[in-house]
Parts: sequence; structure tokens; C-alpha cells
Amino acid sequence: MIVKQYEVGNFGVFSYLIGDEETKEGLFIDPADDADRLLSEAKSHGLNKIKYIVNTHSHVDHIMGNAEMIKKTGAKIVIHEKDANLLTQTPSYLLEMFSATTSPPADLLVKEGDLIQVGNVGLKVIHTPGHSPGGMSLYMDGMVFTGDSLFVGSVGRTDFPGCSWEELETSIRKKLYVLPGETIVFPGHNYGPKPSSTIQFEKKNNPFVQG
Ligand SMILES: [Zn+2]
Ligand SMILES: [Zn+2]
Repeated sequence: MIVKQYEVGNFGVFSYLIGDEETKEGLFIDPADDADRLLSEAKSHGLNKIKYIVNTHSHVDHIMGNAEMIKKTGAKIVIHEKDANLLTQTPSYLLEMFSATTSPPADLLVKEGDLIQVGNVGLKVIHTPGHSPGGMSLYMDGMVFTGDSLFVGSVGRTDFPGCSWEELETSIRKKLYVLPGETIVFPGHNYGPKPSSTIQFEKKNNPFVQG
């Protein structure tokens, strides 16, 4: 099993490469920028087939690399069903602000409990709305990729359209803080003092939601 974290672009976004050495299949979570670098990393880990682009949610800073990555890999875009429409509807002022390209539509819509599989490696979908209606976290083997729901020492903003603080707090408490304490938290941005955390550390120390 291959799990790698890369900070890409100008907005502190963490992109993740996940793959299976045996079948040489891989996927990227939020490959928001630096496609050539990400692809050469995938190759260096022996992953020559990028099967999916998994977006934790539809915000422009996470989806702005989709078009280029698809052109270079033919990968399929996977997003939660509740963020599917928003994926292709980034307002033009935001595209300009981020010098971003809009995303092609999703190929695969997922929901709570679905499994996204590359070779023998599976990511389980945990719906964690609040920062975005279709925000999702992805769980596998002792680690969870939390997008903009939970950061190291912080949580996602809820002052955008479609956000809800109550929903986000519930998602963090009922869907993330119930995971085993030693589960590694891999967030969607490099906003904290360290690039990853654990569920038990955040429960104890996160100033926004304590468990
Ligand atoms: Zn976001
Ligand atoms: Zn973000």
C-alpha cells in the first residue's frame, strides 16, 4: 500500500497519492495543482495507472487541477453526490481569483459507506457535511483523509454559501471523533503546526471541537 502526502499549488492544499504496488493502480485525492510533479511521483512509486481523482469536496482550491489531470491520465472524477452539481459551477470570479480552470463533470458519485477501490486498497466514504454539503472524509487502515472538515488544530470555515457550523460540528463529533484514537488524520490543507495528527490528539487539543 502506498500513501503519500504532497503540498501543491499556492493555497497550501494537501494532495494524496494512494496506490497498490501489486496492481500498479493509484488514485489522487484533490490533485489541485502541479500535475506533472504528482505524476512523476506516482511513476517513481511504480503506479502507472491513475484510476481516480477523488475530490473531498467541490471548492475551487481542491478541484482546479481536475481538468489537467484528466487530460494526462484519463482518470475518473469521484465526488460525493451532494457536491456533484457544485463541482462544475464554480463562479467565474472565483476561477479568476484562483487562476483556475473549471472541472469536468464527475464520472462517479458516491455516498456514505461506499468503497473507492484501487487494486487491493479501498477508501471508505464518510459523509462529513458542514464545510460543504457533500464534503467527505475517506477512511482506510488506520488513517482518515479529512479534506476541509478537520485540520490539524482547526476546522473548516463555515461562512461560505452552503456551509453550516452545526452540521460541521456534528460531522466531526459523530463521524470522525468516533474513529479509533490512533487513527492518523491527513487534512486537506497545511494549516497546522504539523502536516498530520491523530483523532485522539484533535479530540483533546482542537480548540474548535473537543471530544
Ligand atoms: Zn473547502
Ligand atoms: Zn480548501
